[in-house]
Amino acid sequence: MKDLILVTGSTGFIATQTVLRLLDEGYRVRGTVRSQKKGDALRKLVASYRDDAPLEIAVADLLEDEGWSAAMKGCDGLFHMASPFPGGDIEDEDKLLAPAVEGTERVLKAAKAAGIPRAVLTSSVAAVAYGVPTRPNGVFTEKDWSDPQGDGISTYAKSKVLAERKAWDVVADGGPALTTINPSLVLGPMIEDDHGTSIGMIRSLLSGEMDKIPAAAFGIVDVRDVVSAHIKAFEMDSAKGERFIVSDAFMTMEEVVADLRNAYPSLSEHFPTELEDGAIEHRVPSAKKASETLGIEFTPASHAIVATAQCLIDRKLVDAPVAR
Ligand code: NAP
Repeated sequence: MKDLILVTGSTGFIATQTVLRLLDEGYRVRGTVRSQKKGDALRKLVASYRDDAPLEIAVADLLEDEGWSAAMKGCDGLFHMASPFPGGDIEDEDKLLAPAVEGTERVLKAAKAAGIPRAVLTSSVAAVAYGVPTRPNGVFTEKDWSDPQGDGISTYAKSKVLAERKAWDVVADGGPALTTINPSLVLGPMIEDDHGTSIGMIRSLLSGEMDKIPAAAFGIVDVRDVVSAHIKAFEMDSAKGERFIVSDAFMTMEEVVADLRNAYPSLSEHFPTELEDGAIEHRVPSAKKASETLGIEFTPASHAIVATAQCLIDRKLVDAPVAR
């Protein structure tokens, strides 16, 4: 029987798919949830894919000590995926920073105390390329760090860079061998209707909710590749102590809209045509290291975009179009 992996925030978009893949690959999984009700829903979801899956549920909140020590007991590895990823404006910065940063410290310290040998943290390119000036070629690698006090940094990016820094600090003098996976915007197929913020962007476009095309650009990665990166990182000794950016193409929102328009010509009137004012910053995350070391062959970003859209349509999660 393979190792027992603790997956925090196991109800999340990336985490549910990680839980299922770990089970498929023969691992045993203990998933943390914020309430027993959410744990029951996760069990039901997993049961709809697999009979008799070796899945345990543990209840613990990133803001409380209670439950973490019991959750860690007997685990061989930790995938720390829980962290708030809100869409829209954030009024109270601390509501995001406390679970992200104190939560990461709490979880990593509990793993250390429990003697868990390996930990993989879901960080982000938000911890790599923001709050710092961009550069002529626009390319950022794992050697780069976002500046949490830097100009223009979002509260979310601040939460991710401070949380990742905290994780490295906790293990600096011992504890689990840590790897971070730093995804760009995660898209791709969904396995349940409840979806996170990244999928919400495609849903808004398909639903005709965007008046203008945002002046924005980002790397895109398929959720299946993000899951593979976590598992490969856990399994490979050479990944210990390393950060890995996972990302396929860097695309402007205009290009994302063009892909959707090509794939769904009948929905053409839902998509905005006018580009919002503003300069588009090129902060291109390089995933060369993940390709070379972890052997990830990235799903093309365009496939991830269309897979997201198709899931949203199949699951009837696209609202009636707004007439334009
Ligand atoms: P998600 O679907 O919103 O999942 C977030 C998870 O964190 C949920 O399970 C949520 O639990 C849990 N969580 C939030 N606050 C918590 C708290 N106080 N205590 C315990 N659990 C808490 O987001 P996701 O997109 O899968 O993101 C998962 C991880 O990937 C996050 O660390 C995120 O920063 C990172 N990431 C995401 C992307 C992306 O584009 N999606 C890109 C880069 C990095 P509930 O279900 O109870 O709310």
